[in-house]
Amino acid sequence: MSSDEKWGFSTRSIHVGYESDPSTGAVTPPISLSSTFKQDGIGGFRGGFEYSRGGNPNRNMYEEIVASLEQGKHGLAFASGLAAEDAIIRVLLKPGGSVLMANDVYGGSHRLVSRIHSEWGVSVSTTDFSDLSKIEAAIAERKPDIVWLETPSNPLLKVTDLAEVSKLAHAGGALLVADNTFATPYLQQPLTLGADVVVHSATKYLSGHSDSLTGVVVLNDDDIANKLRFQQFAAGAIASPFDSWLTVRGIRTLGIRVEKHSENALKIAKTLSSDSRVKEVFYPGLESHPGHELAKRQMPLGFGGMLSLRLENENVARKVAESTVLFQLAESLGGVESLMCYPSEMTHASVKGTELAVDPAIIRLSVGIENAEDLLADIDSALTKAS
Ligand SMILES: *Cc1c(COP(=O)(O)O)cnc(C)c1O
Repeated sequence: MSSDEKWGFSTRSIHVGYESDPSTGAVTPPISLSSTFKQDGIGGFRGGFEYSRGGNPNRNMYEEIVASLEQGKHGLAFASGLAAEDAIIRVLLKPGGSVLMANDVYGGSHRLVSRIHSEWGVSVSTTDFSDLSKIEAAIAERKPDIVWLETPSNPLLKVTDLAEVSKLAHAGGALLVADNTFATPYLQQPLTLGADVVVHSATKYLSGHSDSLTGVVVLNDDDIANKLRFQQFAAGAIASPFDSWLTVRGIRTLGIRVEKHSENALKIAKTLSSDSRVKEVFYPGLESHPGHELAKRQMPLGFGGMLSLRLENENVARKVAESTVLFQLAESLGGVESLMCYPSEMTHASVKGTELAVDPAIIRLSVGIENAEDLLADIDSALTKAS
């Protein structure tokens, strides 16, 4: 759609990629479940569609919208966030290649390289990404082909300067991949700050309703994008038409959802930071957070819906995690409903006993868009029960 560049974020969320169905006028896109498309003579593809592994109207729409929101040229949707990450690593690395990851990336991203790609001679190393000098030293020493980060990070919500790390990565001959799942393009667009590739677990905020599992990659480089397209077509880990449709529907409300997630999380963070039962609140929206000033510049519209709490000890943390009612104990994040996670045994169980292990006194909240007062009352009564 030609006018998308002058439209604002929420207008693009709703109008890019689809202009009412030409045959019926349906304002909501139909779901194209067809696995194959009739050809008008051999090789006569209508709208370029041949077979749904190579391209499907719902997937194309999804890819176009996310590319527009991330201000990138190409979008590519996969069957899950990890399927998208797998495609990126296989396109960007050859045997002997290496990735430098933040030491608090999503555990599954680290596991993907250390347990799967390692079989093909690709290696991963980590360092603390809240310290630019450590990143610079690690790039000089390990000469990675890819630098891979998340900001804010999981579960401690550390903030990394995307513009500075992209300079360091490029100076060292590496590409920067930013996992933008936590921030969403509403709050932060890494490509505009120098990142080369953005990846999302769209399972989280983009779809936003905990009812579909997909991943999406956005980038500007034509050559890498073509290679990723070929991965979709030749390896086949693509987003299904229905998951693509659900994600497109979720994205229509992304802006207002993320605003509400951020507003609720800030309220909870502020209230709990003066509660003596909570030892530490990790949220970049708090002035006491070491990354607060950077977060204000890098995420000007809000600080997101994720926050973590350090409680008195492991016992208290476990009890709180098992006592809330509205905050349901579950993996994942980014849906309209609030979730609670106990990282050391759940999301970060795969790094237990390593330097990446998470303190067992920490719980992580994915703050939903319910009424903030109800969420606070829920946490308050769990804290009372646990102490
Ligand atoms: C969930 C998650 C992933 C993995 O995505 P899936 O859709 O579950 O495969 C990757 N990165 C981050 C930050 C995540 O939260």
